[in-house]
Amino acid sequence: MSEGHKMFISVMVIFAIYATFFILFDDYDRKHNFTLIESSDWRLVLFSLLVMTGLGVLLLRYTRRMDHRINRDQADKENQVRRQLTQNIAHELKTPVASILGYAETMLEHPDIDKETRVQFLERTRSQAQRLTSLLQDISTLNRMDYATDMIQMEPTDVSRIVADIIQETSLRAAQRHMSIHNYLPVNIIVNGSKSLIYSIFSNLIDNALKYAGEETAIEIKAQEKGDKWLFTVSDNGTGIAREHLSRIFERFYRIDKGRSRALGGTGLGLAIVKNAVLLHGGDIKAVPTPGGGLTFEFTLKR
Ligand code: ADP
Repeated sequence: MSEGHKMFISVMVIFAIYATFFILFDDYDRKHNFTLIESSDWRLVLFSLLVMTGLGVLLLRYTRRMDHRINRDQADKENQVRRQLTQNIAHELKTPVASILGYAETMLEHPDIDKETRVQFLERTRSQAQRLTSLLQDISTLNRMDYATDMIQMEPTDVSRIVADIIQETSLRAAQRHMSIHNYLPVNIIVNGSKSLIYSIFSNLIDNALKYAGEETAIEIKAQEKGDKWLFTVSDNGTGIAREHLSRIFERFYRIDKGRSRALGGTGLGLAIVKNAVLLHGGDIKAVPTPGGGLTFEFTLKR
């Protein structure tokens, strides 16, 4: 609550109590044909004003103390979240860095290592370096959304086209997993937004469905107009997830099966990026079970 609000409330309280006193005294006097306080009116006014000013000061001090406590609690909570996040990032970076170091040291200490093993070690080093790159890219995208929103360029963006491009880019992977992608978006869905973030929203959701839904499943992408927003759904009919995870999967580094996510190249930040990007576009997102099995993401974007 701002100081102005507090002052306004205090003044209103003072007036309310003052008016009550005045009415009560007046009523009493009239009923009993008697003056409650043997003094002229100005004394009564002065007395009540003094009492009310005192009350106002007390109220101000109380609200200020409450505000202080709320701010302190909020800062504590933010610090805790930040600490946890830093720990998570450090933990996620540790594994790939340690394995890159391990492979490099082994190759340096054993220069006569056979060619096949050397190539294997180099391939693993490259894949860990790629993992580091994805992680750093995701962290930087989230940072941009957290602290540099003014640098995000909003412009009329053709969502239908972005989705069509992503489907084309992923078609080989979908075919390898015997999965089909059905795009029911009407052409020319234009929203005022960031091209790269809208790309991130759809590519993360489609990528996740390709990674987790399972072979021989299908992905559907739909949209409908809802007032000043577009309501999108990206759904799959795969394995889905248990209800208790539904709201938590948007948290940074929250994964249901860490090993599986890492093996599939996941950073645990994809859905956090999706959620933040949707919120930045004036929308909202939730995950619900697909009727009959699988996972559906429903989200809105402002038109
Ligand atoms: P990750 O990098 O692990 O994929 P995400 O934030 O993108 O991180 O997703 C968080 C978790 O949500 C995943 O690890 C996975 O367990 C679950 N998940 C996301 N999408 C799906 C899906 N379509 N089907 C089943 N599980 C999913």
